Amino acid sequence: MRVAVIGGGWAGIAATVELTAAGVDTTLFEAGRVLGGRARSVSIDGRDLDNGQHILLGAYRETLALMRRVGADPEQLFDRHPLQVIDNAGFRLALPKLPAPLNVAWGLLTSPTVDWREKAKTAWWMEGLKRRRFQLPHDTTVARWLDAAGQTGILRRHLWGPLCLAALNTSAEYASAQLFANVLRDSLGSPRREDTDLLLPRVNLGELLPEPASRWLHAQGAEMRLGTRVLNIHPDADGITVDGEAFAAAILACAPQHAATLWPASAIAYDFEPITTVYLQFGRQNQTPFPLTNLLGKFGQWVVDRGNGLLACVLSGHGDWESLDDNALVMALENELAVPEKASWRKVIREKRATFSARPDLPRPVCRTSNPRLFLAGDYTWADYPATLEGAVRSGRRAAQLAIKPAW
Ligand SMILES: Cc1cc2nc3c(=O)[nH]c(=O)nc-3n(C[C@H](O)[C@H](O)[C@H](O)COP(=O)(O)OP(=O)(O)OC[C@H]3O[C@@H](n4cnc5c(N)ncnc54)[C@H](O)[C@@H]3O)c2cc1C
Repeated sequence: MRVAVIGGGWAGIAATVELTAAGVDTTLFEAGRVLGGRARSVSIDGRDLDNGQHILLGAYRETLALMRRVGADPEQLFDRHPLQVIDNAGFRLALPKLPAPLNVAWGLLTSPTVDWREKAKTAWWMEGLKRRRFQLPHDTTVARWLDAAGQTGILRRHLWGPLCLAALNTSAEYASAQLFANVLRDSLGSPRREDTDLLLPRVNLGELLPEPASRWLHAQGAEMRLGTRVLNIHPDADGITVDGEAFAAAILACAPQHAATLWPASAIAYDFEPITTVYLQFGRQNQTPFPLTNLLGKFGQWVVDRGNGLLACVLSGHGDWESLDDNALVMALENELAVPEKASWRKVIREKRATFSARPDLPRPVCRTSNPRLFLAGDYTWADYPATLEGAVRSGRRAAQLAIKPAW
């Protein structure tokens, strides 16, 4: 049986590895010159960088398992830190290495700028959420949900708002409360302490998965056609024809707007949210207190310290910053960072359609399509999560498992 996987992002990689490991003759088509899709390495001015900062959590179990499967060792590839949220206004929430849920309770109790009333109210609210397994009676926006829960104090501005934007790439005003609750369920609400750990890559995105997966797939004999954009797919009685070539089945692992051009029946009119990364090279002595800091600026959000004085400022979701050109954005961020020197090198990378906008009651397609030989994969098909690497990997694996056990 020959199976085509269309799209070599993390979903397509996961699908191709799963199929190949099961002995299926698999061909991966990827329009770009490298694997990785929206989480890939880029080479700029002779530097190897990432198209955007990707933060993983200990809860990304299938992603970590996939890395191990293709010979990449997460222990070597990440710096693992118990969750800390620190900002430049003095807020700090640091989880100790205590078993869950004591770690979250202790982190909340010892957060210095939050008063006792708010801590008690938040602990009570979190307990209630756990009892209801983080299932909301109906979906609404994160802002309305937090208002109704009385989460209107320090934690709203310094913890929940920034976490929502980081995890859903959609501001709390518009984001889905149920998707945010799902993220909390699998991180702060998880019974495994390790699930809340921040995994900060020590290497570029390509080295985390796309490159080891590519080597592994090559060694296993899978065919990878890079720089090959599929233009059409046609189902017929015996299978799926991909640009005129016959396959028994196909997995469409593109972003939703690309999947819709090949298989219009899958089309859902998503809104998208951008992410921009502003790289600023300062002198080597400039380091942030923690590798990930929340910059509560007018524009800047999270700052990732990439080492050797290279800071990556992340601007997630729609905002006023979109109207600034690259030079104005760089200047604004240099001011907000307040580093006592100008950056010696700067680069702005704008991903205009970084993720779908994670709105309440968002329609999400299922993996199966109206054709039993065609399956959908990609972050948008993993309905339990917003757009994440873990959702992408899980969706790819699920699609492959369905294709391996044919129903035709
Ligand atoms: C800047 C940025 C920061 C992010 N930060 C995080 C983070 O911190 N944590 C996190 O978990 N997630 C993060 N995400 C989200 C994460 O990157 C995505 O959820 C994930 O990469 C989606 O993978 P995918 O395989 O579903 O889709 P994609 O990565 O979009 O892969 C689809 C692939 O299909 C290819 N393709 C499209 N059409 C065709 C065609 N016709 N023929 C052949 N190939 C085709 C594309 O070239 C692409 O490579 C971030 C995203 C961005 C952009």
